Amino acid sequence: MDTSTRPSAPKLTCRAAPPETFVIPSVHLFDPQHGVDLVGDLLVEEGKIAGWGDALRAPEKVEILDDLAGCWVFPGFVDPHAHLRTPGHEYKEDLTSGPLAAAAGGYVAVVAMANTDPVADCGPVAAWILDEAAREAVVRVGQVGAVSRGLKGEELAEIRELADAGVVAFSDDGRPIADADLLLQALRYTRGIGRPLLIHLENRSLSVDGVMHEGRWSARLGLRGVPAACESGPLARDLEIVRYVDAEQKRQGGTRGGVVAGVAAASGGGAVSSGPPAAAVPLIHFQHLSAAASVRLVRQAKAEGLPITVEATPHHLLLTDELLTGFDQNLKVNPPIRSAEDRAALVAALADGTVDCIGTDHAPHAPQEKEVPIEDALFGTTGLETAFAALHTGLVLTGQLSLERLVEAMSGAPCRVLGLAEPRLEEGAPADFCVVDLEERWRVAPETLRGKSRNCAFLGETLTGRVRLTVADGARRFARARGED
Ligand SMILES: [Zn+2]
Repeated sequence: MDTSTRPSAPKLTCRAAPPETFVIPSVHLFDPQHGVDLVGDLLVEEGKIAGWGDALRAPEKVEILDDLAGCWVFPGFVDPHAHLRTPGHEYKEDLTSGPLAAAAGGYVAVVAMANTDPVADCGPVAAWILDEAAREAVVRVGQVGAVSRGLKGEELAEIRELADAGVVAFSDDGRPIADADLLLQALRYTRGIGRPLLIHLENRSLSVDGVMHEGRWSARLGLRGVPAACESGPLARDLEIVRYVDAEQKRQGGTRGGVVAGVAAASGGGAVSSGPPAAAVPLIHFQHLSAAASVRLVRQAKAEGLPITVEATPHHLLLTDELLTGFDQNLKVNPPIRSAEDRAALVAALADGTVDCIGTDHAPHAPQEKEVPIEDALFGTTGLETAFAALHTGLVLTGQLSLERLVEAMSGAPCRVLGLAEPRLEEGAPADFCVVDLEERWRVAPETLRGKSRNCAFLGETLTGRVRLTVADGARRFARARGED
């Protein structure tokens, strides 16, 4: 594989839409990372944020979106971890329904994992997905390339070819990289081309047929458990390998990462590129962290300065294993929802930045794959449509997390992990934001969801905070009237 020249920039693509002009009166503009926290009117002109405040010079006869007054405007959310199931599993989700679900959740970009059929392990498959997204997706789709051919964990996939096709990162997500030498080889390639490796941690000889977290609830329910060491064990090994590769690179005098984001504008796609480009990406980004033992290891590694980042999902941050007493298949996820102590450690880590960002691990499944005895049900919950509302309700309104940190963990932080420029509320920036009613209460019911599948861990919950409008790449991509399902 040739790593001597830089590959083309990562591509994020969506359906083209003419840039729009409109005013949203009396909204709370909230982008504290970029110094914005004020109430006023917002003007979008020709797809760009043209100004805000009381003395707007809006064009004559401009459309005024009256019914959004009183809502909050956040920089658009970016999900580093979703399964859009295309190609091969379009009965669960596709490149129309997945991005629509994302838009309904306030996301302006979503990154799709490689465990499709065929697997996205070579340039043509990744290029095909990005072309389809450019025709069908209402918000930008970025694609991840597989690390190993066929996700088999045996030999490297076409890393360079995938990078040239525009993948954002590399991951065998759904499966661990068990072979340490393969991981080492992969890191030596991916650091050279400046894309992060996203790692699903799992010791498969410990997880076997486990259904839930191993602890007193699994014992009581008689369900096979998955111990926390199933995650923290491989994490400790991977940190050793990062330490080794990082030291090797420093000896060679290289600097880490370096593909400057900015992100190529693809047809109709543009990019999450409304700010200065990120400097360097992590060597490894650990996906869906679930256990307190893992949090301790990450905290130590970060204190040491290792180039790693971490994500957590809304379900791991909000739910505990005790809830499995209802045998709800939608709570069967991998890694499992863990104990109250694990959850508390994860929330504290999100608050202090040890956990960098939120990834939904949106994993749609059909009823015949979920509505079966829990031992036989597939792993996964959907997450794009409920992520913000669930975290706002469960963490912000209960005083465990600031709204500022939540917005940052869903918008700027994932962009920095992936080396993409951040959406921002700034005059002249492309309009990439969502408008949320922070007071609207709604019940998560199947008919409220826009995605193709209904296997949501939060079904039946009443949440506070509703996405009312998502503007991506300068155009309105999703709108919901007040009180509308
Ligand atoms: Zn995973």
